[in-house]
Amino acid sequence: MARRRKLYEGKAKIMYEGPEPGTIIQYFKDDATAFNNQKHGVITGKGVLNNRISEYLMSKLTEIGVPNHFIRRVNMREQLVHEVEILPVELVVRNVVAGSLAKRFGLEEGTQLPRSIIEYYYKSDELGDPMVTEEHITCFGWATTQDLDDMVTLALRVNDFLVGLFLGVGLRLVDFKLEFGRWYNEHDEVQIVLADEISPDNCRLWDIATNEKMDKDRFRRDLGGVKEAYQEVARRLGVLPEAGPMDLKGPKAVQ
Ligand code: C5P
Repeated sequence: MARRRKLYEGKAKIMYEGPEPGTIIQYFKDDATAFNNQKHGVITGKGVLNNRISEYLMSKLTEIGVPNHFIRRVNMREQLVHEVEILPVELVVRNVVAGSLAKRFGLEEGTQLPRSIIEYYYKSDELGDPMVTEEHITCFGWATTQDLDDMVTLALRVNDFLVGLFLGVGLRLVDFKLEFGRWYNEHDEVQIVLADEISPDNCRLWDIATNEKMDKDRFRRDLGGVKEAYQEVARRLGVLPEAGPMDLKGPKAVQ
């Protein structure tokens, strides 16, 4: 049997050539890294959970008209996505003070922000993903002003939608990171679409009642129970793989 071609291996995912032109298979690994690759670990089952969680969230975003690269889940660890040209700019959306925002400005974690903040980071492992401004992005040609406008508009829509969705299952969406790509559709039109994944690897999710962290901070900060936290997020969203078909339909409201 012919082996498929590996296009790129990242920290948490591998990209393979897809079955049709213009498609890619996104494989979710169990590997976890933090602090710009200085901390490594393996969280057994994480890839399976993130594949499900990201499938669910991307599909919901498609339903509300947020263009994204997701086509369909293929198996436990893989999903089919459109091939896009990833822009080297990551957007972080913040609703609550946490992580690097708390550290940079000496603010207390958990403080609700009066309005959502969007930050830009340049995607570069060698440089440790430095924070950048619109000036850097357009001057260095990483994205145009129009691309940035599209990314910000999409990020704010994603934020509004996901804040409500997670609230419905008893989770506070503290902050998250998004990646975008340029997608050339079948009519050769170019469009900015959401890419990568949305999962507890790149979102901060706190339990509404207890403020317990249900995301990758459990790994970053050695809090233990990483897999259990990811499982709980999947369970609340109604996509826990072991839960059986009757439980895979949608989120359960938390009383
Ligand atoms: O570390 P920081 O507070 O800047 O992270 C903000 C958000 O972006 C967090 O939800 C974190 O999980 C996510 N993030 C990410 N990948 C990075 C940096 C941050 O997914 N390289």
